[in-house]
Parts: sequence; structure tokens; C-alpha cells
Amino acid sequence: MTSADLSALARVLPPEQIVTNPSQVESLSRDFYWYSPVLKRELSSRVAEAVVQPHSEAQVRDVIRFAFEHRIPLTVRGAGTGNYGQCIPTQGGLVVDLAYLDKVLEVTPDGIARCEPAARLAMIESTARQSGWELRCYPSTWVKASVAGFCAGGSGGIGSITWGSLRENGTVHSLTLLTMEAEPRRIRLSGSEIFRVLHAWGTNGIIVEVELRLAPRTCWAQLAVAHDTYAQSFDFIEALAHNDSFQKRLVSNFEWPLPSHFAPLQKWVPAQKALAFIEVADSQLERLAHVATSTGGKVVFTAPWTEIRRGAQLSDYTWNHTTLWALKADPTLTYLQCGFSPTRFREQLRQLKARYGDDFLVHVEFVKSEGIYTPATIPVVRYRSDEHLQELIEVCLGLGISVANPHVNYLEGSGRWRPDDEKLVAKQSYDPRGLLNPGKMRGFAATLEQAAPNPPAIAA
Ligand SMILES: Cc1cc2nc3c(=O)[nH]c(=O)nc-3n(C[C@H](O)[C@H](O)[C@H](O)COP(=O)(O)OP(=O)(O)OC[C@H]3O[C@@H](n4cnc5c(N)ncnc54)[C@H](O)[C@@H]3O)c2cc1C
Repeated sequence: MTSADLSALARVLPPEQIVTNPSQVESLSRDFYWYSPVLKRELSSRVAEAVVQPHSEAQVRDVIRFAFEHRIPLTVRGAGTGNYGQCIPTQGGLVVDLAYLDKVLEVTPDGIARCEPAARLAMIESTARQSGWELRCYPSTWVKASVAGFCAGGSGGIGSITWGSLRENGTVHSLTLLTMEAEPRRIRLSGSEIFRVLHAWGTNGIIVEVELRLAPRTCWAQLAVAHDTYAQSFDFIEALAHNDSFQKRLVSNFEWPLPSHFAPLQKWVPAQKALAFIEVADSQLERLAHVATSTGGKVVFTAPWTEIRRGAQLSDYTWNHTTLWALKADPTLTYLQCGFSPTRFREQLRQLKARYGDDFLVHVEFVKSEGIYTPATIPVVRYRSDEHLQELIEVCLGLGISVANPHVNYLEGSGRWRPDDEKLVAKQSYDPRGLLNPGKMRGFAATLEQAAPNPPAIAA
């Protein structure tokens, strides 16, 4: 940005809403990209030139008009808990920090939460619970994570054992966005239209409102069960996942030594055991404890499920939080995101363990994916070199295990991209100049290049 651009920006927002202090700009240009040694190397020097903090949708519009006119890249930020450097600006420009647009606007009597983009998921949950509802699914980062960040960057989490991933079952009822144009359009997408923007990393519109469908409120309980071997623990959670007589929000387990890294839980985590962490309807806790014991498991912890920060939450150790705890203990670890077969999990894991041993540590969060109970797996793996990591990915692929590669910083490489994706078509309409989070949707740049050697001319 030139000094003329900065002076023009000063006419768009009051000075207290424009951050130029280098250390603040740097921290607001970051997410959890450093889980990946590859991205850590590639992205550490990438920062915005300034950060803007709009306080209203009207101000977001003003920022868009300004950026479009001056051809300045905009990278939207919710809470910055994403992985893969999703909200790291790789081509400078402005970070648009939406943290001030954080209201839960309403919870309708038929169970839809209408929210501003940076409403925190934990806040939506508590608001919904007051009127008899709860979130269908949420990421383990729910205390901080924003609803639009979840829609643009996340995939599912606690609750997905019953409700599937975020993209399923109409859980995202609507997304309303502003386009990146001279005069931004306000577009409300619902039904299958949401896939134009869902999990698009903020590349094709700024989401200004989200409607989520909720589930009826349940009183939950938490349970941890230890088994001597990982195989026994997996048998137990797999059977539980398939047992529809139990109402569940979380069905997960960890092989040893992963539980040894859960520092705050060490007073009850038994050494050398595989652990299962479960959330089940409170009224079914006793029955589940009985089932667990009958499989040779030992119940080592039970507690009521409580809202944010009122007590221990087992979910704070699941999904990608497992990686965080392991990384705190051993910075040479990193992770993968693997799609094991629901029917061949044991054999696929056996082959990986035979080859990699403790360099491949598994934890599973069962999800109901398109109606099939599936072991979602984010293994903690040892980083030895880029080549070793790539070899591990290829070995997984060779065994029929899909990999959503978390060591790349563009949408198409991250494993949720389909070549005919409507996101690309949407981008051409919603962000014709390619100014939103540029570089993250590589197919778009290629289209521009093919269409004309001079991208700005065609984009305009
Ligand atoms: C420890 C840990 C555990 C995690 N566990 C899970 C999990 O269980 N499930 C899961 O799905 N994810 C998980 N994640 C990833 C992440 O926390 C979630 O996806 C979270 O919902 C992201 O929300 P955020 O507000 O932090 O988004 P950000 O990181 O701020 O943004 C994510 C992406 O969304 C875009 N974006 C943000 N706001 C908007 C907007 N208004 N309009 C358009 N684009 C926007 C950003 O540009 C970026 O590309 C985890 C990450 C960590 C570090």
C-alpha cells in the first residue's frame, strides 16, 4: 500500500479502527499455521500492511469499496484459530478483523440461530441453551472460534457423531455475504447455494451473517474409559458409535502416549493405557459405564458437561487439540488429516504402525459422514523432513487412506476441493479482481491467466 492509499484509508475508518503497529499487525496476521513445520517456514514472514477493525456491516462495505478502488488485497479474520494459514495474508494488503461484529442476533422458536460473523460458537451455544436449543456441531476451539470462521475454514467437530459435518443436513441454514465489487452486493445463500462459500477460506465474499440450524438441548455427561490396548478401546468406541440407543455428542479415543501429553488431566490419566473420551446424554451415563466395564474398560473419569470454562471439558483434548497438547510436549511432532476406511480401519492402521511405530500416533473422533459412522483421524506424526512427510502421505494413499494435506496453504491442496467446484465460478462473480485472500484459490489465478495475459484488465 502506498502512503496515498493509507491516507485514503484514513478517510474510510476512524484512526482507532486502523491498526498499523507492527507487532499488533503481525499477531493479527497469524493463525495456527505453525502446527506445520512446512507452513511455518513458508508463511512466517507474511504479514498484512495494516489491519482494519470495522464495527458495523456498513463499515465493512466502506472497506470493500476502498479496497476495490485501490486494488488492495483483503484477508478476513474471525478469531484466527484456523489451521493451514487460512487467514494469513500472503500478498500483503489489509487484514479485516471482524471481531467487533460478534452478536447473536436471535434464536428463532423453530431452532435457528442468526448471528453476526464473529459471534463466538460458545456464545451461540449458551444463548441457544437458554431457549431449549444447542449447536449441532462445533470445533474444539469453540470458546474463541467465530461462526463465520467455522463456516469458511472448519469442517465439523463435537456433535458430528450425530449431526454429521457442518456441510451436511442443512446445518448451515444460510450465509449472507458482501461481494468484492465497486458497489458490494449483499447476497443471501441458502440450500445448496451455500457451497459456493462454505469452506472457501474467505476467497469469495465476506460473510456478514450466518444462520445455523440448532438441535434440541440435551443435558450431557462426560466419561473417560481406559483400556489396556488401543484395539480394545477402538472396538469399544466403534460399537458405541454404531449403537443408536445412546445419544452422543463425542465418541473419541487416543493411543498411548498421546494421553500422557494432556497435562491438566494427569492426576487421573492411567499410564500406558488407551483412553476413550465420550459425551453422552446424562440420563444414559450409568448404562454406558456398565457397557464400558463389560468390554474390559475402566471408567477413570466422569463429570457433568458444563458450559464454557466452568469445569474440565474432555473435548478440549480432542480433534486438533490433541495435536496442540502433543506439540506443547514435543515440538518435533506435527499432524496429518486422514480418511481411513470405516470397514478397513484396523488393517490400514496395522500396516501404518508396522512401518512407522510411534512416529504415527492415532486418535479417532467418530463422525456420521453421509449416514456412515466413520473414524475421523488426525494422527500426530513425527516430522523428520519434508520428504519423509510426503512419503508418509503417499504410503497412506497407497493403503486407501485419503489425506487432506494440512501442510499446504491453498484450497485445492487441502483435500476438500472438487475440480468442478462451484466456488471457482462464484469467485469470478463475487470477487472478479481476485482481491479476497489472494493466492489461496489457485485455480482462479490460472483461469485469469488463461483468459488474458493481463489479469487486471480482464478482472476489471
Ligand atoms: C487446537 C485446534 C483445534 C481445532 N479443532 C477443530 C475442530 O474440531 N473442527 C474444525 O472444523 N476445525 C478445528 N480447528 C480449526 C479452527 O479452529 C476452526 O475451523 C474455527 O472454526 C475457525 O474459526 P476462526 O474464527 O478462528 O476462523 P479464522 O481462523 O479467523 O478464519 C478461518 C478462515 O475463514 C475465513 N473467514 C473468517 N471469517 C470470515 C468471514 N466473515 N467471511 C469470509 N471468510 C471468513 C478466513 O479468511 C480464513 O480463511 C481447530 C484448530 C485448532 C488450532
